[in-house]
Amino acid sequence: MASTPDINAERLWADIMTMGAIGATQAGGSFRPAVSDADREGRNLFRFWAEEAGLTVSIDAIGNMFARREGTDAALAPLVIGSHLDTQMPGGKFDGVLGVLAGLAVIRALDAAGLTTKRAIEIANFTNEEGARFQPGIMGSGVFAGLLPLEEALGRRDDGGARLGDELARIGYAGHAPVGGRPVHKYLELHIEQGPELEKAGALIAAVSNSSWGCSGFIDIHGENGHSQTAAMSTRRNSLVAAARIILDIETIGADNEPAGMVSATVIRNWPNNRVNIPHLTQLSYVAVHATEDGRANIVTRIETAAKRIAEETGLVIDVTTAHYRQRLDLCQDLATQIMTAAERRSYPAMTLPTLTSHDALSMAHLCPSAIIFVPCRGGISHSEREWCDPAHVAAGAQVLLDVAVALANEP
Ligand SMILES: [Zn+2]
Repeated sequence: MASTPDINAERLWADIMTMGAIGATQAGGSFRPAVSDADREGRNLFRFWAEEAGLTVSIDAIGNMFARREGTDAALAPLVIGSHLDTQMPGGKFDGVLGVLAGLAVIRALDAAGLTTKRAIEIANFTNEEGARFQPGIMGSGVFAGLLPLEEALGRRDDGGARLGDELARIGYAGHAPVGGRPVHKYLELHIEQGPELEKAGALIAAVSNSSWGCSGFIDIHGENGHSQTAAMSTRRNSLVAAARIILDIETIGADNEPAGMVSATVIRNWPNNRVNIPHLTQLSYVAVHATEDGRANIVTRIETAAKRIAEETGLVIDVTTAHYRQRLDLCQDLATQIMTAAERRSYPAMTLPTLTSHDALSMAHLCPSAIIFVPCRGGISHSEREWCDPAHVAAGAQVLLDVAVALANEP
């Protein structure tokens, strides 16, 4: 690897703080759900910075943004660097944002050093990675990689009934470029770890080796309605009470599987959901991850067993439906090695880690060799306003991204 320029860490940090001010929350986070007004503002700022740096910005039909710096050989497929600017509701300043804005830092460092690359470099901002407002997440990159049909994604609705395709048009980001269907040389994503392992190990950089086995599901609990102020307590079949028991069991199953896996009860819907009625239908959602396929299967079996036991004890009908199975995926080993080497050259302590959660890189891995670089986040906290990444860690991650990007963009 030839020597590469240094990242402008101060500018990158300032950019992250400026982006974080869009949809800023009182507790220090950001609230920019996908395809919202705040997302539009974040996109506009990214576009402004990209055009200021001389990049050509294109937008595809699912709203993915690509900011392109030409290479010297137009016949070669581009290197894509990216992540997402949408956040959880609320989320932090770093999840996704780091990967997109570090892409700009890479371009600025090349410009400052007067360097060109053989291949074009594109910075991607993928639509709706978070899956907070519209499900499923990893949406823009999923459509780009051909994993999710465009029409299906555009037709998804948020809790208020707004259609994603209409919202994209409303905020001015229903683009005209076709989604995907074009060659990508390689894909790089810098991201905060969202877990505690780097911090525990005292390392600055992780090359992500693989993803985990995942699934999610619904638990429908059917009880019997009645008057909440008059029905004798002993006669009730309250679906919400049974849900409470299952939630506690799920929590225990999660704790038993840590750290290789975990499971969380995350959403509860309850009918009729008013004070004077005994609930007769409660629906829970759960989401599970595990390092092994057997581990994931064991989590599902234990949830089903717990549901069966609670159904017998309460006389209620409980159905567990598991779906959205996600397979473990191995990321590019060569790229992981290059990341480790780049970190070593900069004297950053580095390690390899799996990722428990999904990222846009896992979509892109279906198209081209892809890699994820993790940097630590304080306390492993993310999807939270308390999310924090030390400025020195932001700088280290962006530097490794730059060093690897230069090498990849010069590959024949
Ligand atoms: Zn993310």
